[in-house]
Amino acid sequence: MPSFDLTALRARLPARPITRFAPSPTGFLHLGHVANAIYVWGIARALGGRVLLRMEDHDRGRSRPEYERAILDDLEWLGLAPHVGAAELRGPSSYRQSDCGELYRAALATLARSGRVYGCDCSRKGIAAEAGDAADQETRYPGRCRGRELPLEDGRGIRVVMEPGAVPFTDALLGAMTQSPAEQCGDLLLRDRTGNWTYQFAVVVDDLRHAVDLVIRGEDLLSSTGRQIRLAGMLGREQPPVFLHHPLIRKPDGAKLSKSSGDTGIGELRAAGATPQTVLGRAAWLTGLLDSPERMSAGELESLFAEREA
Ligand code: GLU
Repeated sequence: MPSFDLTALRARLPARPITRFAPSPTGFLHLGHVANAIYVWGIARALGGRVLLRMEDHDRGRSRPEYERAILDDLEWLGLAPHVGAAELRGPSSYRQSDCGELYRAALATLARSGRVYGCDCSRKGIAAEAGDAADQETRYPGRCRGRELPLEDGRGIRVVMEPGAVPFTDALLGAMTQSPAEQCGDLLLRDRTGNWTYQFAVVVDDLRHAVDLVIRGEDLLSSTGRQIRLAGMLGREQPPVFLHHPLIRKPDGAKLSKSSGDTGIGELRAAGATPQTVLGRAAWLTGLLDSPERMSAGELESLFAEREA
């Protein structure tokens, strides 16, 4: 019996959506990724949609080709085949962020024409010290370099102005939300001082160019949504994607699972003799989609998101 009722959500979701699975190859695949993949593949299939696979290796310092290879291998082992991306990622690909510098530069040029982009020489440390935020709070950029007219050049960060104002949206699962990017994060960093495109910028450019109309991801990224909708609009996107943020996986006692703990790595679970079915069932259970860790194959994921009889 599925614990997730798609009937009530259908009106909020695009018909035949294009969604994506977008891991960052800064580590190996773990149960948190698998839980996300279950939502992505399960909902896409239930709605007759498609899944794109995208390697989000914008952070050049932390991403490694061996993590990417292991992620692709684990996905294949689990039986999770995307509609686009897996074959394309065998070589240079528009589904790998590090191969797309030209596209990000072009998107930056579009934003720059609006006159709202500026160079920034602030360090992360300096910003945190100036902002004086509590440890559990997001650091808001106080706007020190706005108006200094620093040129956009190597060695400098690049930011875009976040005008004040609320961004309302409806999360498909959580309902009506309102976020105020200017208050949460201030002017958004697009490229950092070392030349890395930021997650926020790259993901918005990619979801736009890949025509993604449904973003399915964990609740830890909920706070990024308003700024991403705002940025997409600045890049000319008329209709933002629909967002669905799902619960993160928890240990049976309710504690948060850490990415680094050995009991969540798919490679470790495989080495210990787990099957794809036990791994998928365990992830579905830990994210609350199953009442117990039953075995489940990739082909059965859709059944978790069935519509119930009225
Ligand atoms: N690459 C991001 C991550 O691995 C996911 C981005 C997103 O879903 O917006 O956390």
